Amino acid sequence: MAQILAPSAQWQMRLPKGSIEASSFTPKMWKPLVLKQNKKGAIRSSAKFRVFALQSSDGTINRVEQLLNLDVTPYTDKIIAEYIWIGGTGIDVRSKSRTISKPVEHPSELPKWNYDGSSTGQAPGEDSEVILYPQAIFKDPFRGGNNILVICDTYTPAGEPIPTNKRARAAEIFSHTKVVSEVPWFGIEQEYTLLQTNVKWPLGWPVGGYPGPQGPYYCGAGADKSFGRDISDAHYKACLYAGINISGTNGEVMPGQWEFQVGPSVGIEAGDHIWCARYLLERITEQAGVVLTLDPKPIEGDWNGAGCHTNYSTKSMREDGGFEVIKKAIHNLSLRHKEHISAYGEGNERRLTGKHETASIDSFSWGVANRGCSIRVGRETEKNGKGYLEDRRPASNMDPYVVTGLLAETTILWEP
Ligand code: ADP
Ligand code: MN
Ligand code: MN
Ligand code: MN
Repeated sequence: MAQILAPSAQWQMRLPKGSIEASSFTPKMWKPLVLKQNKKGAIRSSAKFRVFALQSSDGTINRVEQLLNLDVTPYTDKIIAEYIWIGGTGIDVRSKSRTISKPVEHPSELPKWNYDGSSTGQAPGEDSEVILYPQAIFKDPFRGGNNILVICDTYTPAGEPIPTNKRARAAEIFSHTKVVSEVPWFGIEQEYTLLQTNVKWPLGWPVGGYPGPQGPYYCGAGADKSFGRDISDAHYKACLYAGINISGTNGEVMPGQWEFQVGPSVGIEAGDHIWCARYLLERITEQAGVVLTLDPKPIEGDWNGAGCHTNYSTKSMREDGGFEVIKKAIHNLSLRHKEHISAYGEGNERRLTGKHETASIDSFSWGVANRGCSIRVGRETEKNGKGYLEDRRPASNMDPYVVTGLLAETTILWEP
């Protein structure tokens, strides 16, 4: 959609809080107001310009964008908080909006809230209330300004975590003194696949057919190799704006598949950041008219699946002599392979076949620089005698609260 940009008339209509008469507002007086707004950096370029009435394909005139970009800070202290939680499937993200009387900096300043759990598969109709506890806040890249995204977890009215609330258990593990003193770091590689809306077939793939075999697509460039880069890149910037600890992105082996990495993040933060990043991705793909799937094997056959490799280290693994600690951790992980696999995502058996850079789901293996193992240790870690390990088993649809919590439990708290 072509946009004609011109200085906005919006600014001339702005009134400071409490002001009644627009006419008493001289051009000289707007200047500090404009500068003040610019300093805040909220959706800067779009707020200063207005999009002329655009003719859309069905002949209607689109002026909604002006309102979406409207900066309300000169008129009110109130902000919009988007409360986000995980729904009944354990993988769907839900959210609703609420006005908060003034900007906040910490989740403890926010009220608890509730929703109808019978509509998300999380409560029976006759006792449907689920309570949202605000746990982490991020800046809202869609609304800008002081508006926020709030990652919540979910409780019964009596204060018990509901079954899909995996954060509560993880927070318990991460507050254990032994775990706290080991400062566990997680670097999560979230892979995902983009689908064409109506046909549910990967982006860039011919409908009813297949692209050429894998090879040229991984980290590729060009219209015949890279499909959906704008979504990956828009998401990257949205994450940085929001305050998510995103560390990189890349195009994946299967065309239409992408990855972003979050971390290293300490303890429970890894889960909060991955969930917020997933929410942003759902919103961006919604805007782009593309469907996001976290299915671990979206296309059967000679096509890579989608994982969520979890890189992990403790303080003692990162210090001299750490490789011995890593080997001990790997030993513990080998003994609890079954428990881990059952917590690493639905449908992972379709992905962990022993082919396409995976290890078989039924056996545990580890190796240095080997991408066909359950656990990979990098060359660098071996050479330095300290560092981190990569658990390659988690599926793209894993719950990061479950996986990070279990890794810490098995390697720090659990004894064979
Ligand atoms: P790969 O080579 O497997 O594709 P990536 O570069 O995609 O690896 O991801 C590696 C992740 O590991 C990054 O998110 C990075 O921040 C994280 N990481 C680096 N060092 C550590 C560490 N010591 N402990 C945990 N995670 C780490
Ligand atoms: Mn990676
Ligand atoms: Mn990858
Ligand atoms: Mn990896």
